Amino acid sequence: MKIDFNKNKDGLVPAIIQDATTKNVLMLGYLNQEAYDKTVETNKVTFFSRSKQRLWTKGEESGNFLNLVSIKNDCDNDSLLIKVNPVGPTCHTGTDTCWKEENTSSFGFLSKLEKTIEERRTTSDGTKSYVASLFEKGINKLAQKVGEEAVEVVIEAKDDNDDLFLNESADLLFHYLMLLQAKGFTLKDIEAVLKGREK
Ligand code: AMP
Ligand code: ZN
Ligand code: ZN
Ligand code: ZN
Repeated sequence: MKIDFNKNKDGLVPAIIQDATTKNVLMLGYLNQEAYDKTVETNKVTFFSRSKQRLWTKGEESGNFLNLVSIKNDCDNDSLLIKVNPVGPTCHTGTDTCWKEENTSSFGFLSKLEKTIEERRTTSDGTKSYVASLFEKGINKLAQKVGEEAVEVVIEAKDDNDDLFLNESADLLFHYLMLLQAKGFTLKDIEAVLKGREK
């Protein structure tokens, strides 16, 4: 890979560290040629620390390593985008990212939808949303609703109206997210079960 380590005369290029799964930006660091070579060799992101003035493998003390997924150079070869699977929180202050953000949006829009459902469920401002009123009816009613939507998906699957099939699928997923939340779970919990089944 072509990397212009001498653009800044100090032999360093900045690297944006991004979570390969959630796509969140975790931190920013600098690499020299040696740090780059070590990163590629060990599959653990290694920086050149400007304060320590030495190679620094992130996680060397804390165990919170950044396991390498991929490295890309930018349009003019003077910065890097490094995708990683982080072990534990990335910031030494204990937060998930160096910008004090949570590293939880694994499911993109679906995670956003989970948050919206939670907001609707917990804000009691008198204006009853559909979500809030369903939660109020209780788990049995929600579960029944999921059952109904599932049956509708089955019915539409037998037809070849793609539009109806997709809409019923969206209904099912939406109501299922509500049921999950009513039971105190999120998509992350389901992911953990599925991952546990992986060989
Ligand atoms: P670690 O590499 O996680 O073992 O942390 C060792 C030391 O590196 C910490 O005590 C901090 O001084 C520094 N450090 C760790 N993580 C970061 C970070 N995300 N940004 C800046 N400095 C860090
Ligand atoms: Zn550039
Ligand atoms: Zn930090
Ligand atoms: Zn429906």
